[in-house]
Amino acid sequence: MDGAAAPSPPTYQIQHHDKITRLRLTSFIPLDLHRSLGLSRRHFPHSSNNPSKKLAMVISGCSSENLDLARLWISQCTQHHELCGLVNSSMQPQHLPKRLINVQNATRPFLQVMNELSEPYLALSYRWGENMTGQTVKCRYEAFQHCIPLSNIPLTCRDAIQITRMLGYKYLWIDAFCIIQDDETDKASELVKMGDIYRYALFTIYAKGSSSSQSGLFLQQDDHIKFGTTKQSIGITKATLASTSDPDYLQERGWVLQETVLSSRRLAFGKWMSWKCTMARADEVNPIPRARHSALTDGFASEIEKLRLWILAPNRMMAAPRQSWLRWNQFDSWYAIVEIYSVTNLTYVLDNLPALSGLAELLQQAHGATYAAGLWMDDLQVSLAWYVASNDNRKVSWRKDMAPSWSWAAVGKTRIKFRSWPSRSIHVISEGVELLEASCVPVAPLNPYGAIKKGTLKVRIRLRKAILRCSAGYTSNPSEPSSISGSDYSLFGNTDKREQPRYFGLIIDIDSNQVKGEVALDAPIHINKRHVDGLDGSQEIMPNSSSLEREVWCGIVHVQRLDERYFLTALILERESDSVLVFRRLGLLFLTDRLWFDPSSSVLNKLDERAGGAFTDVIELV
Ligand SMILES: [Zn+2]
Repeated sequence: MDGAAAPSPPTYQIQHHDKITRLRLTSFIPLDLHRSLGLSRRHFPHSSNNPSKKLAMVISGCSSENLDLARLWISQCTQHHELCGLVNSSMQPQHLPKRLINVQNATRPFLQVMNELSEPYLALSYRWGENMTGQTVKCRYEAFQHCIPLSNIPLTCRDAIQITRMLGYKYLWIDAFCIIQDDETDKASELVKMGDIYRYALFTIYAKGSSSSQSGLFLQQDDHIKFGTTKQSIGITKATLASTSDPDYLQERGWVLQETVLSSRRLAFGKWMSWKCTMARADEVNPIPRARHSALTDGFASEIEKLRLWILAPNRMMAAPRQSWLRWNQFDSWYAIVEIYSVTNLTYVLDNLPALSGLAELLQQAHGATYAAGLWMDDLQVSLAWYVASNDNRKVSWRKDMAPSWSWAAVGKTRIKFRSWPSRSIHVISEGVELLEASCVPVAPLNPYGAIKKGTLKVRIRLRKAILRCSAGYTSNPSEPSSISGSDYSLFGNTDKREQPRYFGLIIDIDSNQVKGEVALDAPIHINKRHVDGLDGSQEIMPNSSSLEREVWCGIVHVQRLDERYFLTALILERESDSVLVFRRLGLLFLTDRLWFDPSSSVLNKLDERAGGAFTDVIELV
């Protein structure tokens, strides 16, 4: 082919050991996009006088070509993505990390105490795993301010320090080094800033392929990945790479969720390198950033993207056009994130609220809302409508000191769902619970969004006494409630199996002995006692053959209406010891008979009344 012929298509060459793939890009990248991305001849030699010049890139190694690609993604985002850059303009001194690792010197990184910040910093999201060593503790703190010895620190942290420097940045934040790990006061004051630390980082280095801090950022590819060498094989190559598992060891880690929500930009390292920001994504195989669903307008955007924008751009989210019947607000995003969070894991179950505290604080600031133990007081009727869902084999560890019974944190790490309703149905605000007062005592006063020692809600609520019926059979086989109820009543039967409760029960009307609704219990109910501290949910504590019945109170929290049909949600409550006005939550009741909660004129003596009938009173939930 001579020089007058059409230019060769741009070729992106991927080297994997001794195999080489050339990805021809013209078929899916317009020429002007190359220019707008700032791709130079060096990257895409289609207009080069030297068509043989190719970009060689070693997948998932720290090659100079990989660094070029990362720089390209970063500059494209920082220069052109307005939504991704929303946070960096307004950093206040109180958001500053107390310390950062200064990585400028290749052999002598050190901890720098920050009084001001004139340059951007990066943050690392990674998994500690077993055998975490070398972190900052009191006795090493002074020495680390002169030098953090690279040979003694975990490989993932070392790699992240090198990448930061090689990409041209001066500062990196890593929790294990920037927080003094054996200083509880330092931990409490820095943990409350975690949200800000990730929010204001220029981008996060996301060590998705590192099963522990010792694994390093760069993983070897599986040998079975084959790369084609012809034009026809390009599609196959892409499909093979896309379908090859690239494990994400961080996805299941509870602490990482808020880091992910708050990081507008993420450079991930696994079997290959990838980029994800609020507006685009790219990876080594598809290196040209592709637009993502915008949470501003698109209901299909991920919940993580939606909550990020509810925090970073609340006014624009408010102004975004929505269907009038669709409730799609900041609290709904929070509930969706709590559901995602509930399936992640934590080393310490007492971290359940602290690991979301950064998100809670920022959402509270963005909307002036009131947060208490994982719930939003401004949206209490829906906040209280959580339940323990099935499809989770983890043990339920219920401990009285974890959180008040009305908080989802009280049931530890188990799968949580918030009740959902048919589309186009309307929330009937006037009929549900009304908050009069909320008070919570945090375990660490420095972090009011963290663990809660004691929490009380004073509410006005419509109550009705009823019989709760449950059995071991219900728990193990909720799809056949009629086996003990003699009723074909089924709300849960119509829902997706994954939405069904883990511990099932029924509510029976005291007078008529009719089944009135279905119950999702928060934990199995002991025959004599509500819960046992440190309870293991896999143990059989309800009688096997017979059903268990006990008197409970039902308190209506929420009513949803679709045409003439009503969907009611109530709390199942029991009295706290002998106190008449103080109640604990046992579970959530789903029912459809609105008349059952209509005030009854025959009930005069309210809480002391033995017979059925609904009435409104002020009680305390603990
Ligand atoms: Zn971006």
